[in-house]
Amino acid sequence: MNKKYRVFATCDIGEAVELLRHRGYDVEVYPDPKAPPKSLIIEKLKSGIDGLITTLRDPIDAEIFEAGKGTLKVVAQIAVGFDNINRADANRYKIPFTNTADVLTEATAEFAVFMMGVLARRMWTAEHLTRDLQWGYWHPYLPFLGDEVTGKTVAVIGTGRIGLAFIKKCVGFDMNVLCYDPAYENHAFVKAVDEINQLRHTHGMTKTKAWIKYVPFEEALKQADFVSVHVPLLREGESKTPTYHLFNEQTLKLMKPTGYLVNTSRGPVVSEAALAKALKENWIAGAALDVYEKEPLPADSPLRDPAIADRCRLMPHFASAARITRMSTDPEKGMAGRCAQGLIDVLEKNYKGDFSKMPYVVNKEAFTG
Ligand code: NAD
Repeated sequence: MNKKYRVFATCDIGEAVELLRHRGYDVEVYPDPKAPPKSLIIEKLKSGIDGLITTLRDPIDAEIFEAGKGTLKVVAQIAVGFDNINRADANRYKIPFTNTADVLTEATAEFAVFMMGVLARRMWTAEHLTRDLQWGYWHPYLPFLGDEVTGKTVAVIGTGRIGLAFIKKCVGFDMNVLCYDPAYENHAFVKAVDEINQLRHTHGMTKTKAWIKYVPFEEALKQADFVSVHVPLLREGESKTPTYHLFNEQTLKLMKPTGYLVNTSRGPVVSEAALAKALKENWIAGAALDVYEKEPLPADSPLRDPAIADRCRLMPHFASAARITRMSTDPEKGMAGRCAQGLIDVLEKNYKGDFSKMPYVVNKEAFTG
């Protein structure tokens, strides 16, 4: 039996909680589905918590680490994005934090592909026709038409794990791909996709051979029929190429008036005021969003304007919300399992207690050299 570690979870991570309890951990789960107030997290930490399980809604900063000083050993986040965690503060307090990368990559990427289809083929508006008894006849172009996805050109902004998984799926739609990533260009992946495109063409599966290439940001936006965003939220000072408001009035104006924007990354990457204006004034054809500057999306958001409703799909931060992806206790399959394993690795000093060698620890730099 392990030494009883005390863990506070700001949300329920399902069966993975039992997995921790079976190891002898004393786990308290915040019972409300809404986020606990920061003051409560601080109160729990002051009472002597070894491990904190967090989600992207919890602000984790110096105040939190100070409250846990002496006892807090790890913050285990159930999400791949960690923009809610102040990395510099975690490093200063020498607290490792973990995330759940990889296991949500395919689910998030496929959701982005589906959003692209739902938006361009106007499925939401079309279903409303049926439901509202407005479907009176079949007609070649009435009451409206959508745009095909197959064979179009998609710009993928951020070619990390999810961006590349998204591209893999776009290959099946014979799409041309414009890649943009200022930090790392994965030319081996581009070469592999090019070979697959060639093979599909050689075997007569496609009339024309699709292409893929890295291009500068502006070029990607100008040439694309679809733009899909897969970057982390990086504010000024956190990166040489911050992503905060990467999509603003200036950059949205670079897109084609027939272009569609899909954002499954983080809300503040897109200026919502600029996007609402872009949709209202038809600078672009449409947008599908899964994430927002403020979540949940406020009732008075300009994105809720009925005038743009048929061209603006609004999802409730749902891209990773698939059964196995979210809840499997297997760390190779589910976010819950990976979150628990990240916590266990640190508390039980796996990898000889070397945080820099633990696969799910994010801020390895604080523990090297
Ligand atoms: P990742 O770190 O593997 O990839 C991110 C890529 O973005 C990296 O290659 C990086 O170089 C690139 N990048 C950084 N700054 C950039 C810039 N200015 N312009 C273009 N590219 C830039 O991360 P990932 O696992 O692919 O996840 C990406 C993000 O998706 C996460 O950080 C998270 O915020 C978001 N996400 C959202 C959901 C959801 O439910 N909607 C689910 C999973 C992930």
